[in-house]
Amino acid sequence: KNFQSVALVAGVTGIIGNSLAEILPLSDTPGGPWKVYGVARRPRPSWSLDHPVQYIQCDVLNADDARAKLSPLTDITHIFWVTWANRPSEAECIQVNDAMFLNVLNAVVPNAPNLTHICLQTGHKHYIGPFESLGKIKPHETPFVEDVPRLPVPNFYYSLEDILFETCKKKQGLTWSVHRAAVIFGFSPYSMMNVIGTICVYAAMCKHEKVPFKFPGTKAAWNCYSVASDADLIAEHQIWAAVDPYAKNEAFNCTNGDLFKWRQLWKVLAEEFELEYVEVDENEEFVSMSEWMKDKGPVTTCWFADVIFSGECMLDSMNKSKEHGFLGFRNTTKSVISVIDKMRAHKIVP
Ligand code: NDP
Repeated sequence: KNFQSVALVAGVTGIIGNSLAEILPLSDTPGGPWKVYGVARRPRPSWSLDHPVQYIQCDVLNADDARAKLSPLTDITHIFWVTWANRPSEAECIQVNDAMFLNVLNAVVPNAPNLTHICLQTGHKHYIGPFESLGKIKPHETPFVEDVPRLPVPNFYYSLEDILFETCKKKQGLTWSVHRAAVIFGFSPYSMMNVIGTICVYAAMCKHEKVPFKFPGTKAAWNCYSVASDADLIAEHQIWAAVDPYAKNEAFNCTNGDLFKWRQLWKVLAEEFELEYVEVDENEEFVSMSEWMKDKGPVTTCWFADVIFSGECMLDSMNKSKEHGFLGFRNTTKSVISVIDKMRAHKIVP
């Protein structure tokens, strides 16, 4: 088959990677037909087998492994960077995420003569600072817009951007885009941060233990306006930037384009799981998800839900994407329901 574009998806089983693996190979995807290489460390999971992707098991933190497995892929035209590593401090995050990115770039850039674009996934921490600085530094004013100066704290997103800019400056014709998401609603059970997956597990446990389906967060998080990013929408946004000349060499926010409140979404979730909807009791001290789960064994990761549910969500603007020609959006309520349906179809949650 004659492919017009060849993607390397770094983090193909992650929350965005799985959406890219699903959407890129479709016959009507812009820039197609696409050939897709997908990279992750673990063996290919059964839930990703349907996607026509050449799966490459590779640890990109290991320079030798990355070189051995990725330098022979000389036909790559686009890199989609949708992976990351978490470490206890931001200094370590910078070190390890830089190394992963550089290992892949060093293996691919000199060997893939037709490489034309690199999409880098980051997020709202660009505007509020890394996890370790939350509450300690003043975030940018909301709604976030893309072209504000960087915050004066180290951030692995900034460091990855700098590597991206340097790499593209050095190779003629190589362009970049940066995609900044809010909390992502998507399918992957292999994701380090899948808040809908965590809520599904929590709901199943509330049902099983016959306890009220309480919101494990603060009043502020319950009542404020929030924004989210549907994983399929992010994949569409990245593919748009990868092929559209008006999107080159720009950073873009990428959120659904609507607002929601957890107090309203909680009703939808309660209905989905056939649980009684309970309001947050303003007089009661809240119990965080990890506190609630602490004696339940390693069933899901809760730390990210704790972060999302512990303060007010910060809003961003999608004007820049629209002005550059991306008009995609998602209805957040429908996005949540479709993610849950998919997890159920794959028997990941009851
Ligand atoms: P996920 O945790 O969902 O996925 C990570 C992917 O990378 C998996 O496929 C994982 O598979 C793979 N991977 C991890 N380490 C390696 C490695 N050393 N070598 C090869 N593959 C590896 O990541 P996200 O999509 O959540 O994160 C991408 C970016 O999006 C990050 O910068 C994150 O901060 C940002 N973001 C995420 C949000 C969210 O809600 N999830 C919100 C806003 C921004 P395996 O473990 O098998 O290797």
